[in-house]
Amino acid sequence: MGTESHLSLDPAAADFAVDMSNVMKTADLCSSRPVDLARFVSLIDGLISHTRDETVQVYAVADASLLRDRRLSDNERATLRNWYQRGLIEVMDVADDRLIELADTTGQAVVSRDNYKEYCRSYPWIAGNSDRFFRPCPGPGGVGVGVEPRVMPTPGEWEISRKEEEGLLLGAGMYDRSGGTGPRRALLSRRWSCPEADCPLFGADRGARGDGGDYQPVPKYRHGVVLCPTHQLRLIDIGPYPRRVQVKARVDGTVRTRFLVAPRQEVAVGRIPGGDGIALAGWVHAGDEGGGSRVSRSHVTLRWDGWKLRACDTSRNGTTIRRVRPAPEEFRLPPGEYRRLRPGDEIVLADGVELIVSGREFIFEEATEAEVPPPDLADRLREEAQQETEFALDSSLFDLPDRPSLPDRPESSG
Ligand SMILES: [Zn+2]
Repeated sequence: MGTESHLSLDPAAADFAVDMSNVMKTADLCSSRPVDLARFVSLIDGLISHTRDETVQVYAVADASLLRDRRLSDNERATLRNWYQRGLIEVMDVADDRLIELADTTGQAVVSRDNYKEYCRSYPWIAGNSDRFFRPCPGPGGVGVGVEPRVMPTPGEWEISRKEEEGLLLGAGMYDRSGGTGPRRALLSRRWSCPEADCPLFGADRGARGDGGDYQPVPKYRHGVVLCPTHQLRLIDIGPYPRRVQVKARVDGTVRTRFLVAPRQEVAVGRIPGGDGIALAGWVHAGDEGGGSRVSRSHVTLRWDGWKLRACDTSRNGTTIRRVRPAPEEFRLPPGEYRRLRPGDEIVLADGVELIVSGREFIFEEATEAEVPPPDLADRLREEAQQETEFALDSSLFDLPDRPSLPDRPESSG
């Protein structure tokens, strides 16, 4: 068969890495069926005419679910299985992982309409790339399948984290791609317990570790059963699991710390908000030249009701919301009033000091290397007191107005 002579799992021989599921499911290509093997077969012709190479070689990767897809005919599924068994195509739980790995290590061009946003953090070369990705498109005159080069989008922080989470949930079986409903919310919003009492993930003493509260890992879902990923035992439902939101604090472009906000909890963020608040004093100083000096001790308070995040400005210099969707805009938070935020909103405390709301809902991001522990707070306070003496400014202990002529707005806290 003609197609087979173009299939190769030798990365050195292959010219293109092809996302088979994506090509076979792209609706506007040469077929009215939801999934069609003919699209992949036609794509090979499209690649031949694009490269003007009769011997073009394709490294084809399929999601395992494609081989079970009932929308394909028995014949089509048998062909895929046969190619797989003869080592002509690769079958992976998540084909995307493999495709990006191939592109990264071998420089192969990837044929897919996927935007690979969840990979943009690990592979910074993807965003904006214009020479390693091709889009399957209708062939000349609408006949067959062709390819055209594409420029990869540069996703926002919120979008990257949302997409990354999708990938993780998919791996755990907790994302329903075929049903189109996305995360299995009903299961992800329950608290689970492992029959093994000392299970590190779902055991009885989980939550007593003091690592940011009783954050529950994501259980595994296979064939209608919720399982412990460590012990492969059926987990026991022990009640509702309240959804939280993750917020990251970014100073001068680097995420420095992150925290979770639980339902009905109010979290104050500022230089030194006190109580259970999130202190940025390790990275933001009253004596800073830049925006840091405009951050109040308690600058903004966040509240999460399980679905919506609200923010209230409690600062001296004000708080700005930077909104990206549906259209970019910026506005000031009215002091002392809670306002509802939208996904993707950034809370700007001062130039270069921002709170970013993660797009993730269920699996929260791990701290990165940049998130070093802040210097000792006592040292920081001594330093700030010293700077105040040097500048001989008689203001509140920690809030140095950057211009003496600023109108004196009262602070509602601190
Ligand atoms: Zn377990």
